[in-house]
Amino acid sequence: MESQDKILRPIYLSKRTFLGLKDLVIAFYAQKCPFQCSYCSLPTKSHPEPLPVKKIKQQIDWSFEQYADELSSFQQLSVGNEGSILDRERFPKEAIVYLLEQARAISSLKVLSLETRPEYILPATLEDIFHLTHAEIIDVTVGFETQDDYLREVILNKTIRRKNFEAKIKLLGEMGVRLTSYVLLKPGPTMTEKEGINEAILTIEYLAGVCQKFGTDLVIYLNPVYVAKGTPLAKAFSLHQYKPVRIQSVVEVIAETRDLNVPIYTGLWSENNTDGYGDYTVHKDYQPETRNALKQFNKTQDFALLQLFYQSKLDDRQYQSQLILL
Ligand code: SF4
Repeated sequence: MESQDKILRPIYLSKRTFLGLKDLVIAFYAQKCPFQCSYCSLPTKSHPEPLPVKKIKQQIDWSFEQYADELSSFQQLSVGNEGSILDRERFPKEAIVYLLEQARAISSLKVLSLETRPEYILPATLEDIFHLTHAEIIDVTVGFETQDDYLREVILNKTIRRKNFEAKIKLLGEMGVRLTSYVLLKPGPTMTEKEGINEAILTIEYLAGVCQKFGTDLVIYLNPVYVAKGTPLAKAFSLHQYKPVRIQSVVEVIAETRDLNVPIYTGLWSENNTDGYGDYTVHKDYQPETRNALKQFNKTQDFALLQLFYQSKLDDRQYQSQLILL
C-alpha cells in the first residue's frame, strides 16, 4: 500500500538536444503498462496498482521545479510514463490537463511529444491535446519497432497489428500530428549483423512509405538493441549466443536511408539495464569516436559528421589511417 504522504519522483527526468531542439524529457512514475513485450523491463519500474492523480501532479510540480530557471528556454517537451501517457486509466485526463497547464511556462515550446501505444491514439484524445497545448507541433512516439510481422508479433510480442497501425498513421496525417516511431536495430535473437541492418532499413523504408501515403510527418528513433535484464527475450538471446549490434551498423542504417529525408535520432543509452551481454561497447572494434559523432548527428542531422565512420564506403586501411589523424 502506497503511503499517502510519500512524494513520488519520476522514473526519469533530464534534458537533451533532440534534432536541434532543447528538450525536457520526463518519464512519470505511474501504474505499470499492461502489455508484455518480450524485450521490455520497463513495467517492473512502475507502480503495480492505480496511482492517485495527486501523486502524478506532485511529480509534474517537482519536475518543473528542477528546471524552473530555464523552463522558458525549452523548445520541446517529451513526456511518457514507461507505457502510454495517453492511456486514461494509467494517466488520467486530469493529470494531462494539469501537465499541459503547467507546461505553459515553457513559452518557447515548439514540439510536444507524447509516448504512447497506438491503441490510445484517438481523435477525441488528440482534439483535447490540441486545445490544451500551445506547442506548434504535436508528436506521438510509438514503439512499432519492426515491419517484420513475425518478429514484431511473435518474437517481440508487441501486439501491434500492421493494419491497425497504418490506420493510426492515417489518422495522424488527417489531424496534422507527427509520428515518431521507435525502430529496433537487430532485435531477433538469431539475426546476423547484416540481417539486423537490412531489417532496420526495411522498417524505415516501410514507415516512410506509409507516412508519405497519408501525409504524416515522420521521425525515426533508432534503438540499437541491448538485452534488458530479466526479460523473456533475454533467455532467447542467451540460447542463441546473441551479440549486441555494432555501433558501425547504426551509421550504416542512417547512411543507407539518408535519401528518404527522414530525421533519425539514435538511442545510445542502455542505462545499466543490460543482462550481462552489454551493448555495442562490448565489441573489440568499438570506437567511442563513432558514438560521439552519432551524438552530434542526433543534434544536427549533419551526415558529414558520420561520413568518416561509414566503413562500408571506405576500406579498412583508409578508415584506420583517417582515425589516426583525428
Ligand atoms: S515496450 Fe511499451 S508497451 Fe511494451 S511492455 Fe514495454 S512499456 Fe509496455
